[in-house]
Amino acid sequence: MIIGAITDNSDLERRIPLTPQAVSRLVKKGAAVMLEPGSGAGIHVADELFVRAGAKLVARGSILSQSDILLRVRKPAAEDIAIMKSGVIHLSFLDPFNEKDLISTLASRGVSAISLEMIPRTTIAQKMDALSSQANLSGYVAVVIAAERLSKILPMMTTPAGTISQARVFVIGVGVAGLQAIATAKRLGARVEAFDTRPVVKEQVQSLGAKFVEVDLGETGQTKDGYAKALTPEQLALQRDAMAKVCAQSDIVITTAQVFGRQAPIIVTRAMLSGMQPGSIVVDLAVETGGNVEGVELNREIDVNGVTLIGLGNLPGRVAVNASDMLAANFVNFIEHFWSKDKNAFALKLDDEIIKGCLVTHGGRIVNPKLLPQA
Ligand code: NAD
Repeated sequence: MIIGAITDNSDLERRIPLTPQAVSRLVKKGAAVMLEPGSGAGIHVADELFVRAGAKLVARGSILSQSDILLRVRKPAAEDIAIMKSGVIHLSFLDPFNEKDLISTLASRGVSAISLEMIPRTTIAQKMDALSSQANLSGYVAVVIAAERLSKILPMMTTPAGTISQARVFVIGVGVAGLQAIATAKRLGARVEAFDTRPVVKEQVQSLGAKFVEVDLGETGQTKDGYAKALTPEQLALQRDAMAKVCAQSDIVITTAQVFGRQAPIIVTRAMLSGMQPGSIVVDLAVETGGNVEGVELNREIDVNGVTLIGLGNLPGRVAVNASDMLAANFVNFIEHFWSKDKNAFALKLDDEIIKGCLVTHGGRIVNPKLLPQA
């Protein structure tokens, strides 16, 4: 069975799908692994290390046309899909709710496309959960970027010249990225507050030593997969009122609020930004799904009356070494989980709960109920 990895190698994407360690795990299983020469450039890994791990270096076109399983970070380009084998199993982030044409093309070309975003958030699938492995790093990077842009230090410091007070950090949305943002800001010595619509989060926030901001929004809750339910317009208005007060006192605001499969909710309005102290920093981690902050722009830093609004995309790509390690481990864990010893090959078990959750196209059709019109 041939497993091929395609690298994007662009300024926008330095992460790579397979590291030498991941290659050697796949080779041990009995797979033939193919990569392009220069695959490791984004994370400073020489070709020789991939070869030593057992990979074959071949041209991109051959990888695309010969692989039985294709791994890549981002969605495939149409010209790549055109030369893939029919029946190839393709794993990548796909943004399937927004990429309707792409999903139709994958289906019509007979690709079995697995969307990393849709791997179920279950205990057994945790080791394959690329959304979590990358979000975790995003939370860290967001705080580091904000700390670097802020003209203040984060910890309290007592010096002969006087005492510097702690900077205040407010994290809105406490999923995987938000929890890591809290932990990172705490490690840097900030005073941290946080809010999420899912009530279960309160205890997690407190266990990290941060303060949970209490807002009575009425019924909120979460889906069976642990995702937030969308708020009503009235609930969002209530939330904004409460958030405005905390934002006005914060030096750094980090927003990570997302609702699975939907546009991110606007939580911080322009008026709320105007109420913040000049010099404050806002990092919007939801910018790629529309943003939580009014006026945020992808890959731009905007000055709004002295407040810096940062909307940088692909934050895990800024720590591409760790992000690639995590992603490669997620890919290999996925493949190993479904590796059949008898056939010495990956077995696409269509009745498995994990596969049912993340397989979006198969056998010439869109197969995932969440992507079908009636869903
Ligand atoms: P996400 O990226 O979908 O959303 C980030 C956070 O934003 C969530 O905590 C969500 O509740 C919150 N949010 C949504 N609307 C909001 C609003 N208006 N105001 C404030 N916050 C708002 O979340 P995620 O990081 O992907 O995590 C989703 C869930 O999955 C969490 O419960 C997480 O613990 C769970 N999870 C479980 C596993 C597992 O068990 N294997 C693995 C990873 C994540």
